[in-house]
Amino acid sequence: MNTMDVSAKAEIGSTRDSRFDILFEHVHIGPRIAKNRFYQPPHCNGMGGLRPQAHAAMRGMKAEGGWAVVNTEHCSIHPTSDLMPEVLHTLWDDGDIPPLALMCDAVHEHGALAGVQLAYAAYYNANKLTREVPMGPIARPVDGYFPVQVRAMDLQDIRNLRGWMRAASRRAVQAGFDIVNVDANFSTIAFQFLSPRNQRTDEYGGSLRNRARLLKELIEEAREGVRGECAVSVRLIIDELCGDVGLQVEDEGLAVIEMLCDLPDLWDVVVGTWADDSPTSRFAGENEHEPFVKRIKSVTKKPVVGVGRFTSPDTMASLIRRGILDMIGATRPSIADPFIPRKIEEGRYEDIRECIGCNICVSSHYMMANLRCTQNPTMGEEWRKGWHPEKMQPKASDKHVLVVGAGPAGLECARALGDRGYAVTLAEKSRQPGGRVTAESALPGLREWGRVRDWRVTQLQKMPNVRIYLESDLGVEDCLGLDVDHIVLATGSTWRRDGLGRLRNRPLENTSTLPILTPDDIMAGRSVSGSVVIYDEDHYYMGGVIAEKLVQMGCKVTLVTSAPEISAFSYNTLELPRVARRLDSLGVTVLTHHLLSGLDSQGPRFAHIHTGRAAEIAADAIVMLTARQSNDALYEPLLQAIGKEKRDRDISVSRIGDCLAPAAIYHAVYAGHRFAREFEEAIEEVPFRRERISLQSRD
Ligand code: ADP
Ligand code: SF4
Repeated sequence: MNTMDVSAKAEIGSTRDSRFDILFEHVHIGPRIAKNRFYQPPHCNGMGGLRPQAHAAMRGMKAEGGWAVVNTEHCSIHPTSDLMPEVLHTLWDDGDIPPLALMCDAVHEHGALAGVQLAYAAYYNANKLTREVPMGPIARPVDGYFPVQVRAMDLQDIRNLRGWMRAASRRAVQAGFDIVNVDANFSTIAFQFLSPRNQRTDEYGGSLRNRARLLKELIEEAREGVRGECAVSVRLIIDELCGDVGLQVEDEGLAVIEMLCDLPDLWDVVVGTWADDSPTSRFAGENEHEPFVKRIKSVTKKPVVGVGRFTSPDTMASLIRRGILDMIGATRPSIADPFIPRKIEEGRYEDIRECIGCNICVSSHYMMANLRCTQNPTMGEEWRKGWHPEKMQPKASDKHVLVVGAGPAGLECARALGDRGYAVTLAEKSRQPGGRVTAESALPGLREWGRVRDWRVTQLQKMPNVRIYLESDLGVEDCLGLDVDHIVLATGSTWRRDGLGRLRNRPLENTSTLPILTPDDIMAGRSVSGSVVIYDEDHYYMGGVIAEKLVQMGCKVTLVTSAPEISAFSYNTLELPRVARRLDSLGVTVLTHHLLSGLDSQGPRFAHIHTGRAAEIAADAIVMLTARQSNDALYEPLLQAIGKEKRDRDISVSRIGDCLAPAAIYHAVYAGHRFAREFEEAIEEVPFRRERISLQSRD
């Protein structure tokens, strides 16, 4: 079996390359010692205080994977800072201690340090749960569209805030944390005072020293609260990336660290908003922030942590060796592979499941659902399903499984079944494995998505019990001719050409009046020229990416969508503004709020979704992004053939991934993994554990 337990492996002895030794040096953080330089910064996860056992298990898994420091996400220090319905943590009173203590225990079990991100948000708060009046540096509406204003804090409010930080820090110590992180991130009061946008005229506004006063006081209060029993760190935006309207690193970002340099025990530095700090691979590569962080260590002797979607051990070691960072902050890489430190330590570099930079993990925060990840289907399932990213339960029998289709669903299904020890045959009709991942990773900006395929193929190649056949287009008789007990159809899906979709309930008429293409045609290399309209009812990345591809091919492109925004789902992956800027820079014309009403010889006709007002766009071709159809043509014939023939043994058939119901790539990977986990296992009707609210009185 290929399921060697990583805990057992660690005892065999380290085989890492000596050039990575530097990553395993200790780092002193105030009164605590981090066992290596791997730091999991705070990150949202959709579990938080609402699902504390799931949260603790997820953080504990990072610690088991070798991270020296594991942080919570945003933890509010007072009811006047309430971000509900976002699922985060609170330390408002002692009743909030036990859920966080669970996490500390899980992290400590593996010798890691636990950190808590203590935050007080200001303009970001609408206080929807508590109905308290939000406060900020000055009076103004809250961010977004909620009809609420914050009131300006007076000096008594500031004194109160300092007390809340002190009390929350004390509770953090009681919960068992090793590091209290004073959050001066984009949504927090500390940063909103620090930013040049702070228009106060008292001792908390104006000069940098005045604007930094609140941050300094909050660090001092945290110190008071922890009474030397744990470390105090700061998470700080060092550049707002908006020119001189905001804080700039060379101007005030470095100056504020120089001013407060020894007050905290560690500086965790970030850049801009969450969208700037966590760009997708479509728009930024690894280590994008180095130009911003490269001088921080020249102004402080305290350890510095920075992020940059680091997955390469060479990049990590280089940042330490060149004196740019002391600890490697890695959020998304720690989600895609919680065991990166252990794998580097054991010299298993090719086993690292590299983050593809898609930000599906971020979307779980906006969905308020357990964290999920395209590369790591076990993420968020550690407690409720008991899934471990590095361990599978052994097979239940000697059955032989045929998996048809080597897209993300089929690859992951074969890999995970193989890991359980089953004999697996994986058949793929194309010359290359990867299915839609191979096709889509050739589109502009999506190259890193190929890692979904590459990691799985690398793992499969090590499994003697898995045979892979490429260029094998299987039919019913081919499947039944193999000596298998179970057939898994992972044969994917095809984009529809007929216009039926989310809003359009019936196929288009007059389809011969205009060439109609689909993304499959474009990815297959079909040529198209002139004016092309893309009609997008899909609302995720494909519309924008196909637009880019068509511009590269020399077309004049108009992107029409029924949604109020282009690529509307991309709000959840923090990409929406960048998509808009990219398409604008490429000269793509955008029309939102319009439904495709028909086709005629002049081109496609559209109607405004609210007013019905008609719009026509002259076009030489239209690309239809409405829906996909499952490639499940084998399913019914297989069932019928199996039913008709008396065979020596029963053969069963399942469909997974896009073949069952087309969805995003992360669904396909999850479907493949889930099938393998549940194959020949008894599964309850509710297939996961739930954290139910216990009804008890306030006291
Ligand atoms: P998913 O996202 O569900 O994994 P994909 O479309 O990415 O779906 O992958 C499906 C894969 O199945 C494609 O690589 C396709 O070539 C392959 N495939 C489809 N039909 C057959 C078949 N009859 N025999 C072998 N492979 C097939
Ligand atoms: Fe990386 Fe995507 Fe996983 Fe997030 S969801 S950790 S961006 S692979």
